[in-house]
Amino acid sequence: MAVIRSVTSMQRLARKLAGQGKKIGLVPTMGFLHEGHLSLIKRARKKTDIVITSIFVNPTQFAPGEDLEQYPRDERGDIRKIKRAGGEIIFIPRAEDIYPEGFQTYVTVEQLTLTLEGKMRPTHFRGVTTIVAKLFNICRPDVAVFGMKDYQQAIVLKRMTHDLGYPITFIIAPTVREPDGLAMSSRNKYFTPEQRPEALCLYYALTSARSMVQAGEYTAAIIRKEMRAVIKATCPTAIIDYIAFTDFETLQPVQHVTAGTICSLAIKVHGVRLIDNMKLL
Ligand code: AMP
Repeated sequence: MAVIRSVTSMQRLARKLAGQGKKIGLVPTMGFLHEGHLSLIKRARKKTDIVITSIFVNPTQFAPGEDLEQYPRDERGDIRKIKRAGGEIIFIPRAEDIYPEGFQTYVTVEQLTLTLEGKMRPTHFRGVTTIVAKLFNICRPDVAVFGMKDYQQAIVLKRMTHDLGYPITFIIAPTVREPDGLAMSSRNKYFTPEQRPEALCLYYALTSARSMVQAGEYTAAIIRKEMRAVIKATCPTAIIDYIAFTDFETLQPVQHVTAGTICSLAIKVHGVRLIDNMKLL
């Protein structure tokens, strides 16, 4: 297993592997890895000969006042976990190599980034698409795997991959949850044991939405009202950023749930902003 920190070494190795006919998988992460990340590595490993896992807490996707400085890090633990998951290469670039002095070139995806997370965090996706485009250029993957947990991010990056013509198979892998349903997230670490049960309000709201749909209720406004009630009952101090019902591909809002409708939500629980989503039908 190799840990590579230099952009030029990574580029050289990727080119060499491609020259040897090896199929390369890429799993971009911000580190502090959990089973959700490892599921992506295992998925990539099944489809390719060599998996590159990148660890980079990307400053351009954080707005001032967000948790860039506090974002949890555990490089040694991450390396151990990646090795166990079967990942062969770990790419941990330095910020000054990714964003050299005078950097001013960004990749942006237009309409898809104007809603949901993009509306709440206007500079976020520009940072995400730029770093992933750079990682694609450096690592030259044949396959890239992203999580459904960050559903809008996956759809935006899929669009970028297609629009820029990257010859990459784009895979969106399912969300891995804790046994009680909480979506795994590096940010779950911010909760004290007393706060942690209240973080489940997102999962309770989503499962209640799914149950309503299964019982024949398809009106988004009615389902949203019930979800708000569930959140209030299970985490009275929660601050709801949004509860959205959208088409899976276009991210356009829908009034009525149909096959392919995704319900996504963003909620601040004890100051920690969590996102989650579920396919309703
Ligand atoms: P992050 O380190 O949070 O930037 O996430 C890196 C990748 O892991 C992204 O593609 C995420 O969507 C994915 N991911 C994060 N949490 C989960 C999870 N619970 N299950 C599956 N994939 C996840």
